[in-house]
Amino acid sequence: MKKLILLFLAVFSIHNTIAQSTYILCGKILDTKSGKFHFKKTIVVEKNKIIDIIDGYIVPKGALTVDLKNQVVLPGLIDMHVHIEQEFDRNTRLNRYILNEADIAFNSVGFAKSTLLNGFTTVRDLGGTGVNISVRNAINLGKIPGPRIFTAGKSLATTGGHADPTNGSSRNLLGNPGPKDGVVNSVEDAKKAVRQRYKNGADCIKITATGGVLSVAKSGDNPQFTIEEVRAICQTAKDYGMHVAAHAHGDEGMQRAIIGGVKTIEHGTYMSKETMNLMKQYDAYLVPTITAAKEVEEKAKIKGFYPAIVVPKALAVGPQIQGTFAKAYKYGVKIAFGTDAGVFKHGNNGKEFGYMVDAGMPAIETIQSATITNAQLLNMENEIGQIKIGFFADIIAVSDDPTKNITTMEKIIFVMKNGVIYKK
Ligand SMILES: [Zn+2]
Repeated sequence: MKKLILLFLAVFSIHNTIAQSTYILCGKILDTKSGKFHFKKTIVVEKNKIIDIIDGYIVPKGALTVDLKNQVVLPGLIDMHVHIEQEFDRNTRLNRYILNEADIAFNSVGFAKSTLLNGFTTVRDLGGTGVNISVRNAINLGKIPGPRIFTAGKSLATTGGHADPTNGSSRNLLGNPGPKDGVVNSVEDAKKAVRQRYKNGADCIKITATGGVLSVAKSGDNPQFTIEEVRAICQTAKDYGMHVAAHAHGDEGMQRAIIGGVKTIEHGTYMSKETMNLMKQYDAYLVPTITAAKEVEEKAKIKGFYPAIVVPKALAVGPQIQGTFAKAYKYGVKIAFGTDAGVFKHGNNGKEFGYMVDAGMPAIETIQSATITNAQLLNMENEIGQIKIGFFADIIAVSDDPTKNITTMEKIIFVMKNGVIYKK
């Protein structure tokens, strides 16, 4: 009798395991490592991991099955530059005075969901008010659907710089921000601001190394940190296991950022050949954000959409970025896929692929940039960016072969993250 009960328990537990697994029947899987396709495979997912990839189509009785026999299956995409807290519109400037943190958090819920449903299962958030840290935590705890988030919390700027939260505001309203609020003006401030980000729960650091387009300030490209300040930020960040991303349009600020030790240059608008050489020498990556550039160029033509001081900057910077990306790619600068979503509508991140292809990067390399390269930068190359046994079950599908039709990346038809299906 005892033996019978044990046998029953064993059979029951095996059956139970099968019931928990998901079998994804894949007509074509893109191997992001080799750039080649694998045909007719079954991916077996258990809990949040890929536990097996079997030749042919296998459907055990009673198992949960997903039929992607006529689709192309890829690993979940990674965007290295989003702002999950906001979506730029005419009211953005006003929002600073009327929104509370709870409002920002509720807005973020929709933005995070839209990002995930469009195939981006991991993102790096490069700056908001700090609510992005709570958004990351809520997603990790399964309270809201969204991508896995690596966040910089609040960006670091110098006084009057691109991420000074009081730019263009009445002194009576917003006061005089310091390192705690992400504004630094010395090496000591720089260290303190990085440690504050660590304390707040940031995963990485973002600095605004030069002026920017959408801030209420005159220059869109002047250098805004000394090299000593950048160095202090990068060295302190390293102590806490964080890398540093630098927003940069102008060449001088970009050079200081690279020599100071940042890992990624965001936008890179006026990058010279000399700076491209520095990028290679210091093993820094360019994050192109062409989609945001196209957006600001277009929106600057609509009267009243941006404050008057922003318009000439948008019209100057916007048209440059795709061309700079083309030159940098051709010159051999390493490219990390990133869009600056939030400057445009969250969920439209996939447009970046087409813009990169138009600029001369082969489609397969754009996808590798959004998977393999970005996984490496996030120190997750053994967990995400490939469909491989032991990796997180971040799996998406498109209806067409993206190496032949890259716009298919804008129409993601299946999304699984951490083994949970969000879109089918
Ligand atoms: Zn940005």
